[in-house]
Amino acid sequence: MNAPLPPEVLKQHLIDPEICIRCNTCEETCPVDAITHDGTNYVVDPGICNGCMACVPPCPTGSIDNWRLVLRSEAYSLQEQFGWDELPGEKPLPENLADGAPADDAAAAPSTAAVEAPVASAPSLPGASVPPWSAAHPYVNLYTHKAPATATVVGNYRVTDEDTGSDIHHIVLDFGNVPFPVLEGQSIGILPPGTDAQGRPHHARQYSLASPRDGERAGYNNLSLTVKRVTEDHQGRPARGVCSNYLCDLAKNDTVQVIGPFGNTFLMPNHAGANLVMICTGTGSAPMRAMTERYRRRIARGTNGRLMLFFGARTQRELPYFGPLMKLPRDFIDINLALSREASQPRRYVQDMIRERAADVLALLADANTCIYVCGLKGMEAGVLEALRDVVVQAGQDWSILHDALRREGRLHFETY
Ligand code: NAP
Repeated sequence: MNAPLPPEVLKQHLIDPEICIRCNTCEETCPVDAITHDGTNYVVDPGICNGCMACVPPCPTGSIDNWRLVLRSEAYSLQEQFGWDELPGEKPLPENLADGAPADDAAAAPSTAAVEAPVASAPSLPGASVPPWSAAHPYVNLYTHKAPATATVVGNYRVTDEDTGSDIHHIVLDFGNVPFPVLEGQSIGILPPGTDAQGRPHHARQYSLASPRDGERAGYNNLSLTVKRVTEDHQGRPARGVCSNYLCDLAKNDTVQVIGPFGNTFLMPNHAGANLVMICTGTGSAPMRAMTERYRRRIARGTNGRLMLFFGARTQRELPYFGPLMKLPRDFIDINLALSREASQPRRYVQDMIRERAADVLALLADANTCIYVCGLKGMEAGVLEALRDVVVQAGQDWSILHDALRREGRLHFETY
């Protein structure tokens, strides 16, 4: 089955534009910078990609795991890939070469390669590419761009103070009789209506679930999202986010096209006594709300481990869910708020709070029942890793050994944008 390919033949790595949700994970993960994107598609440079597979496990949709056997001289260029709405079919190879490359090789290539690749402890990933051992098995990709699910809006309200610039909404979607099984930590894609500047349908935007697996309302087939209305780009220039504005403006009983669910690693442990350290900024609090609510609904069982939350926002009034969060019992969750623009206080980031709580963080890190989740701004990723490392090193311990174990055992997870 896996005869070596003739030198003229390339197993070309491609990204399926129909499934890709443009989350940028592959581009960030690729150790050789072979992946790039324009306003439309994510593409792989055939001259750079070495088939290392580092990008495959973190991809939430599997769109990254596509391969075509092509003549090297006819490899699909970046320009061709940028123009695709869908992947091209298999092109037959010349007969003399096809012998060395079995006809079903291309179809078999992704999964075969995925099994062979030593990806679980790939050093380029800050977090794990496997879930915790006791995580429930997730469903992924049940609904696609071609066959989305329809959900109905049953709630849409603001969860930050009205007079602040952070317009963050809690949006509840109900699936009625349509099966849409999810787990905390997973995300969904929303298809905004309309077309982009090129006249193509908008691609899906990804949002983490803010509700637990048994529904925003326990026992109902609904889920919630935390969505910030985007009104400026990363440089601070005015820009209207297509999907965030669409979602924030939805009214009750409006319908929404949904794809997914996505995600098979950023999942919570299920065993008794499992501790969660949750580190988030802004709307990155969505999965933390889902996990916390899962634990809250199980308090009576007495099987919960410890919950420790580090939550960063500009001000208290811009911190989503501030009111409900502060009502949670102190012996249920250890809350550490890091406010960066509160007039009366010095600037605080989540990593500052992690250092301040070093002794407690260290105790949790030392416990094999602890899983750590980081979600929010891309910029916090390096800072949080550094803070965790400092906590460990200052206690005279070896961070690289612990970091490696946390990744290998599916106990350290990042979801940052
Ligand atoms: P934000 O309000 O811009 O920032 C939240 C806090 O993080 C602020 O206090 C900010 O401080 C601070 N911060 C900035 N850079 C930091 C760094 N390097 N390290 C630590 N803290 C830092 O946040 P947001 O607009 O809500 O953004 C949240 C992010 O989560 C977005 O990137 C979003 O894409 C992502 N996300 C969202 C979802 C979802 O489902 N909605 C899911 C996953 C991830 P300053 O005062 O310095 O700005």
